[in-house]
Amino acid sequence: MSDSRCKCPMAISMTGDGCRYCQPQEHIDRTSEWLNEGREEIDRLQAENEALKAGVSGLVEALEAIQKASTIKGIHTGAKAGLALGRIEAICYIALQAHRKGGE
Ligand SMILES: [Zn+2]
Repeated sequence: MSDSRCKCPMAISMTGDGCRYCQPQEHIDRTSEWLNEGREEIDRLQAENEALKAGVSGLVEALEAIQKASTIKGIHTGAKAGLALGRIEAICYIALQAHRKGGE
Protein backbone atom coordinates (compact mmCIF):
# COMPACT_ATOMS: atom_id res chain seq x y z
CA MET A 1 0.00 0.00 0.00
CA SER A 2 2.93 2.37 0.51
CA ASP A 3 4.19 4.35 -2.44
CA SER A 4 7.30 6.55 -2.43
CA ARG A 5 5.32 9.39 -4.05
CA CYS A 6 2.96 9.50 -1.07
CA LYS A 7 3.75 12.35 1.31
CA CYS A 8 0.78 11.80 3.62
CA PRO A 9 1.31 11.50 7.36
CA MET A 10 0.45 8.01 8.61
CA ALA A 11 -2.65 9.23 10.43
CA ILE A 12 -4.11 10.67 7.22
CA SER A 13 -3.45 7.65 5.01
CA MET A 14 -4.94 5.41 7.73
CA THR A 15 -8.23 7.35 7.86
CA GLY A 16 -8.69 7.09 4.11
CA ASP A 17 -8.15 10.80 3.46
CA GLY A 18 -4.84 10.28 1.73
CA CYS A 19 -3.58 11.20 -1.69
CA ARG A 20 -3.97 9.31 -4.96
CA TYR A 21 -0.92 7.14 -4.17
CA CYS A 22 -1.88 5.77 -0.79
CA GLN A 23 -5.66 5.87 -1.36
CA PRO A 24 -6.18 5.38 -5.09
CA GLN A 25 -9.78 4.14 -4.78
CA GLU A 26 -10.70 6.90 -2.34
CA HIS A 27 -9.11 9.39 -4.68
CA ILE A 28 -11.08 8.08 -7.67
CA ASP A 29 -14.33 8.11 -5.69
CA ARG A 30 -13.77 11.66 -4.52
CA THR A 31 -12.73 12.83 -7.97
CA SER A 32 -15.83 11.33 -9.59
CA GLU A 33 -17.92 12.89 -6.84
CA TRP A 34 -16.39 16.28 -7.65
CA LEU A 35 -17.01 15.67 -11.33
CA ASN A 36 -20.67 14.86 -10.64
CA GLU A 37 -21.01 17.94 -8.50
CA GLY A 38 -19.42 19.95 -11.28
CA ARG A 39 -21.87 18.53 -13.81
CA GLU A 40 -24.81 19.27 -11.55
CA GLU A 41 -23.52 22.82 -11.15
CA ILE A 42 -23.22 23.19 -14.92
CA ASP A 43 -26.78 21.87 -15.40
CA ARG A 44 -28.05 24.26 -12.76
CA LEU A 45 -26.20 27.22 -14.33
CA GLN A 46 -27.49 26.30 -17.77
CA ALA A 47 -31.06 26.17 -16.47
CA GLU A 48 -30.49 29.52 -14.76
CA ASN A 49 -29.07 30.94 -17.95
CA GLU A 50 -32.13 29.75 -19.91
CA ALA A 51 -34.40 31.34 -17.31
CA LEU A 52 -32.44 34.59 -17.54
CA LYS A 53 -32.63 34.54 -21.31
CA ALA A 54 -36.38 34.02 -21.10
CA GLY A 55 -36.54 36.88 -18.60
CA VAL A 56 -34.54 39.17 -20.87
CA SER A 57 -36.64 38.35 -23.93
CA GLY A 58 -39.72 39.05 -21.79
CA LEU A 59 -38.20 42.41 -20.90
CA VAL A 60 -37.39 43.12 -24.54
CA GLU A 61 -41.00 42.31 -25.48
CA ALA A 62 -42.27 44.60 -22.74
CA LEU A 63 -39.87 47.29 -23.90
CA GLU A 64 -41.08 46.99 -27.47
CA ALA A 65 -44.69 47.16 -26.27
CA ILE A 66 -43.83 50.28 -24.27
CA GLN A 67 -42.09 51.80 -27.27
CA LYS A 68 -45.16 51.17 -29.41
CA ALA A 69 -47.49 52.45 -26.71
CA SER A 70 -45.36 55.54 -26.16
CA THR A 71 -45.53 56.38 -29.86
CA ILE A 72 -49.26 55.79 -30.09
CA LYS A 73 -50.11 57.45 -26.77
CA GLY A 74 -47.80 60.35 -27.55
CA ILE A 75 -49.90 61.05 -30.62
CA HIS A 76 -53.33 60.32 -29.18
CA THR A 77 -53.28 61.49 -25.59
CA GLY A 78 -50.62 64.13 -25.63
CA ALA A 79 -46.98 64.62 -24.76
CA LYS A 80 -47.36 63.97 -21.01
CA ALA A 81 -48.19 60.27 -21.29
CA GLY A 82 -45.50 59.91 -23.93
CA LEU A 83 -42.97 61.52 -21.61
CA ALA A 84 -43.84 59.21 -18.71
CA LEU A 85 -43.59 56.16 -20.95
CA GLY A 86 -40.34 57.49 -22.36
CA ARG A 87 -38.93 57.57 -18.84
CA ILE A 88 -40.03 53.99 -18.22
CA GLU A 89 -38.44 53.07 -21.52
CA ALA A 90 -35.18 54.72 -20.48
CA ILE A 91 -35.22 52.83 -17.16
CA CYS A 92 -35.83 49.55 -19.01
CA TYR A 93 -33.00 50.36 -21.37
CA ILE A 94 -30.57 51.06 -18.52
CA ALA A 95 -31.68 47.92 -16.70
CA LEU A 96 -31.16 45.85 -19.83
CA GLN A 97 -27.71 47.34 -20.41
CA ALA A 98 -26.73 46.66 -16.80
CA HIS A 99 -28.07 43.14 -17.06
CA ARG A 100 -26.12 42.45 -20.23
CA LYS A 101 -22.92 43.83 -18.75
CA GLY A 102 -23.35 41.78 -15.60
CA GLY A 103 -24.27 38.58 -17.41
CA GLU A 104 -21.33 38.51 -19.79
ZN1 LIG B 1 -0.76 9.56 0.44
